[in-house]
Amino acid sequence: MRQQSICILGSTGSIGTNTLDVVARHPDRFQVFALTSHQRVPDMLAQVLQWKPRFAAMSEPSAAAELRRLVKEAGSATEVLSGPQALVDLASHPDVDVVMAAIVGAAGLLPCMAAARAGKRLLLANKEALVVGGAKFMSAVEEGGATLLPIDSEHSAIFQCLPEDRSTWAARIDHIVLTASGGPFRQRDPATLAAVTPDDACAHPNWVMGRKISVDSATMMNKALEVIEARWLFDLQPDDIKVVIHPQSIIHSMVVCRDQSVLAQLGTPDMRVPIAYGLSFPERITSGASTLDFLSLKALTFEAPERARFPGFFLAWDALKSAHGSTAILNAANEEAVASFLSGQIGFDQINAVNADALEQVVPGLDVSAPVEALLELDDRARQHARALIARIAR
Ligand code: NAD
Ligand code: MG
Repeated sequence: MRQQSICILGSTGSIGTNTLDVVARHPDRFQVFALTSHQRVPDMLAQVLQWKPRFAAMSEPSAAAELRRLVKEAGSATEVLSGPQALVDLASHPDVDVVMAAIVGAAGLLPCMAAARAGKRLLLANKEALVVGGAKFMSAVEEGGATLLPIDSEHSAIFQCLPEDRSTWAARIDHIVLTASGGPFRQRDPATLAAVTPDDACAHPNWVMGRKISVDSATMMNKALEVIEARWLFDLQPDDIKVVIHPQSIIHSMVVCRDQSVLAQLGTPDMRVPIAYGLSFPERITSGASTLDFLSLKALTFEAPERARFPGFFLAWDALKSAHGSTAILNAANEEAVASFLSGQIGFDQINAVNADALEQVVPGLDVSAPVEALLELDDRARQHARALIARIAR
């Protein structure tokens, strides 16, 4: 078997390092061609020295300059590239077979689009890119002949419950059920949410993840983004996507078929499982995850998400049913609101106010054929709107 050459966008993050963990188990199958990250130089330097990729890129130019100096000093042959365009170039490089999209946020959209257009096997963890890109993203995948494989555990679960032949999906699916853990505040009195700290919000009961997605899990905006992601990945109507809270995170999601047979994918909560499946599909390889011990499971329970506790979650359907571009507005506002919460400018309970306001006030003014650049302009406009509101309500 020829080794697959892999480019990991966001290699220093939670998904990035989990990907390298799976890759390390299969040196016969994969070879690391390129690693990219944003600005944390020491983490990137350690990865470069360990993995000896042909290229390493940092989107922040001063970080790239420092990395280049340190890589040279260490006598490494890795070539260091700088700036956002380098990520686009590496994601579409002719020597790359597999692109792991593990950047957080809309910043991943252009490299993802480049990988899609170049026909790569594209492993998508970066849900925000699909939430912003929507139909444009999916047509780039189709036109480029790319293989798009979901890495989000819920979407991987749905994908694993479906046959390989996509043309059979529409006739087969009645609806899908995404499971949600409910995050750290599932049982907390909603009246006390104004006082929670970033560290409280990032203390997820079942998963260790980057800080942005951890906050999104606490507001359930993560599930809202996943509903939008599922709409595109599986070509579903918004009302055919349902969500239940399942606090144990053992069932990763379910497909309800036309005949009401329910297919579910189960396992221990470990992102290396969907990552390994994305890397090896349609085969299966070892992931490093531990075996699910059924006898240690006390119960699998289910609850409905409450509106008073998770108001932002319900915005997914509002955005999907509103004018084209609305999901990009919701995502942009949320990225700004979460960053402001993490830096202490606004309270946890104010995140939803920013998101709801942007979705209501920012006018997308796009038609469905608008290019990706127009979506990014809209993203920028929504961020400015959100920042202005944040400045007014900051405490
Ligand atoms: P993280 O914060 O741990 O890592 C993010 C990575 O992206 C880092 O390598 C960082 O350097 C890079 N990055 C950040 N901003 C960038 C920018 N502007 N330009 C280029 N690179 C940038 O995040 P994560 O938890 O690994 O999540 C990554 C993506 O995967 C997110 O979209 C998240 O929603 C999704 N995801 C994560 C998990 C998980 O378990 N962590 C599960 C499902 C989906
Ligand atoms: Mg998920």
